[in-house]
Amino acid sequence: MSDEPKRRPILSLKNPPKVVLPEGPKKKPARAPAPPAPAPVQHDWKCKPCGAGFSIEASLADDVVIRCPSCNAKLGTVADFRADPPPTKLRARPTRRA
Ligand SMILES: [Zn+2]
Repeated sequence: MSDEPKRRPILSLKNPPKVVLPEGPKKKPARAPAPPAPAPVQHDWKCKPCGAGFSIEASLADDVVIRCPSCNAKLGTVADFRADPPPTKLRARPTRRA
């Protein structure tokens, strides 16, 4: 240890050494495995005007008017949907279940 600071000759670096960053393990972008495709929702009915699928909730009363969730068309009452066979005025048709 010396109290006198050493004078260093000032060198001009024409070609400074390139700073090489330490190469660590390259992180690959996390690619989560594709989740299993959920089973397609099985609808009980299909809107005749637009073809959208929907289901009638079992808790609904018979006089509840069912409207298409997609085109808002009045399709019939719950009683119409529950009739077997469905009345011709019903503007929906049952979808075939697999
Ligand atoms: Zn519709």
